Amino acid sequence: MKKDDLKSLVAQMYKELLQNIDSQENVNKAQVIDYLEDAICTFKKIDIETDSIEHAKLTFTNTYKEIAKKSISSYKETNGKFEELGKLHKATLDEAKTHLIDLPSITSRFDEIQAHMTEEVQKANDVITQLNLQVKNLEEDSNLDGLTKVFNRRALDRYLGSITQKEHLKHELHLLILDIDDFKSINDTYGHVVGDKILIFIANLLRNTLRDGDKVFRYGGEEFVIILNRITAKKCEEIAERILHTISTNTLLYKGDSVNVTISIGATKYIDGDNPESLIDRADRALYTSKAQGKNRMNVEFNNGH
Ligand code: GH3
Ligand code: MG
Ligand code: MG
Repeated sequence: MKKDDLKSLVAQMYKELLQNIDSQENVNKAQVIDYLEDAICTFKKIDIETDSIEHAKLTFTNTYKEIAKKSISSYKETNGKFEELGKLHKATLDEAKTHLIDLPSITSRFDEIQAHMTEEVQKANDVITQLNLQVKNLEEDSNLDGLTKVFNRRALDRYLGSITQKEHLKHELHLLILDIDDFKSINDTYGHVVGDKILIFIANLLRNTLRDGDKVFRYGGEEFVIILNRITAKKCEEIAERILHTISTNTLLYKGDSVNVTISIGATKYIDGDNPESLIDRADRALYTSKAQGKNRMNVEFNNGH
């Protein structure tokens, strides 16, 4: 191979190298070294002595083109990946920016939702309060005691009010006050739930013991009032004794416990001119006597005053 041929081949190499560099946006030193090494390798393979320069040029160009193609395509691939990554990055940044920009609005939206929910909870609470009030009003309007389902204090007040308004009651009317004995210690021993069950138990016993015309009221916590119409004083005492017996002989069974209760009774008879207070007061005094005498008994008080 002549000197000119060699020069021409080297010129070709460099021309190709420069063209390759030009065709790529970014080329680094390592890529140029790679090119030169590949070129040297190709150059070595050329049989300089036997082959013509044209053949050598062709061999080199072909081999190089392959290398160049590979390097460019790999660059493109990498570039493409970078482009993808760049796009992804931009999208991520945009998204982040969007989020950042939207953060206050997201926060305010969240606040809005929270406020809405708080409002809804408030509304629900208002409805519950309203319903509770309605239940309370209904209970108050109703004549029945919520726990024992006998007439309540309100009903007793109404009933006594209507009776005492009359100048003269055509029939005999007796009033009994019943008070559970040692109820506090029953509550203390067995708990309030058992206490409540005893109240229901006694109310049921009273209802079942009495005739249709008789009325049972829950007067206070553990106190009941019974109104007996059209009976004699003797009959009234008999009924009171029967009640005492029924209650003291019935046992309430609750979770393996058998609970015995007794009551004390104070009885009186309606006297013309009575008002609800005077009537109750007499019965109360009789009850006090029963308690003082040892409980689980009845007493009658027919006289006003002490
Ligand atoms: P006494 O024999 O002198 O009547 O004694 P007592 O313990 O029955 O009377 P006291 O007045 O000392 O206590 C009454 C108790 O009744 C206290 C109270 O906790 C209870 N009580 C009142 N109402 C209810 C109720 O609705 N349920 C329950 N479980 N207990 C009640
Ligand atoms: Mg009492
Ligand atoms: Mg009591």
